[in-house]
Amino acid sequence: MTFTSVEYAESLDNQDALRKYRDEFVIPTLRDISNGDSDEPCTYLCGNSLGLMPKRSRELINQELDAWGRRGVEGHWNHPYNRPWATIDELVKSPLANLVGAKPIEVTAMNTLTSNLHSMLVTFFRPTESRFKILIENKAFPSDHYAVSSHLESRGIDPAVGLLTISPRQGEHVLRTCDVIDLIQKDKEIAVVMLSGVQYYTGQFFEIEKITKAGKDAGCIVGWDLAHAVGNVPLSLHDWDVDFACWCSYKYLNSGAGGIAGLFIHEKYKDDTTRPRLAGWWGNQKENRFDMLPEFQPSEGASGYQLSNPSIFTTISLLGSLQIFESATLKELRLKSISLTGYLEKLIQSQLQDEFDKDLIRILTPKDPQQRGCQLSLEFPLKMMQVFDGLHSRGVIVDERKPTVIRVAPTPLYNTYKDVYNFVIQLKEVMNLVYK
Ligand SMILES: *Cc1c(COP(=O)(O)O)cnc(C)c1O
Repeated sequence: MTFTSVEYAESLDNQDALRKYRDEFVIPTLRDISNGDSDEPCTYLCGNSLGLMPKRSRELINQELDAWGRRGVEGHWNHPYNRPWATIDELVKSPLANLVGAKPIEVTAMNTLTSNLHSMLVTFFRPTESRFKILIENKAFPSDHYAVSSHLESRGIDPAVGLLTISPRQGEHVLRTCDVIDLIQKDKEIAVVMLSGVQYYTGQFFEIEKITKAGKDAGCIVGWDLAHAVGNVPLSLHDWDVDFACWCSYKYLNSGAGGIAGLFIHEKYKDDTTRPRLAGWWGNQKENRFDMLPEFQPSEGASGYQLSNPSIFTTISLLGSLQIFESATLKELRLKSISLTGYLEKLIQSQLQDEFDKDLIRILTPKDPQQRGCQLSLEFPLKMMQVFDGLHSRGVIVDERKPTVIRVAPTPLYNTYKDVYNFVIQLKEVMNLVYK
């Protein structure tokens, strides 16, 4: 049985101990995705953009609607399923902490990602005459770019002066850790280093521990945007001495579009009152939150940075997904992920040898499994959109980033080796048509 055969893909699926978790999710059908007439599942490789719906999230949300209908405001304290809304965010604290390698006190669910980035900059960006720059990647996700620029402006700092970006070397696609560290050591004006854990465009998994250490040694605050890292790669934020981190939950964490975001603040700041913060009633100690006192008394740790009462529906749908992560464990998921993405890489390279030789396709993501998560970013220098449309019409869901990139993310919770096999077969057929 050669590794390029469908039997080989099926045999890998048969040996996969995590295979049962696919049944926890609703997978869009060909009928719904590409107007087909089949109720077979599509090939969904887009968990980097929006994770699939856990079946148990539907059930949990229905229970919350039921609670609301039956109890009204009393659901805050007296909840028919024993999940009172007044403390609902506590249910996701410890599973989130497990995913990012943190203590529960260091983590909270709140707001959405971009607003949390602003919140953290209010607290941790304390510019002085000599240190006033924020470092991000040159091709950071646009929202991060806008957030940092507008945040600088709000402090009276011209982004042309305060926003520092770092690009890969000429002719390279991903950043070298040594170049990031070099820049941090040389530019003494950097106040905050705020890179992404896994780069959304290239799929590069940064060496968070090394970069964080270099940043701290140079006297910077180091924060991370973990939108594409959480639920994808192992993290040890506490041990790595990261100052703060933010992430959204609708990508690999499958909480649904616009779901509640996550926040990490290192334990060493748990009682910090020296830094300013954006405050709201949900950051107040829960013991007297409803006493409505004029003076803010923050909760210890990350919870003290919460602003509003959290959305019940997005918090509970996140809980549904986190229960699956707790059962599968990130350690096992990562092992499968390395194998699944490795299989994807090998199969593309062997099936599309000619196309690689003609430079019709390239892989931008690092080859080293330790420097990537599950995603591979494929570059099509010509006619990328035609390839994308061809895949879509064949029921393959991936995503495109113009002008030339298609991102493919086999996620170990619900994707199979057969999904990867299908993708590669369809890609080959589509490329034959597009470039004939
Ligand atoms: C997905 C993503 C966002 C999206 O921000 P929201 O505030 O959740 O809309 C921001 N930054 C990065 C790096 C992302 O990957």
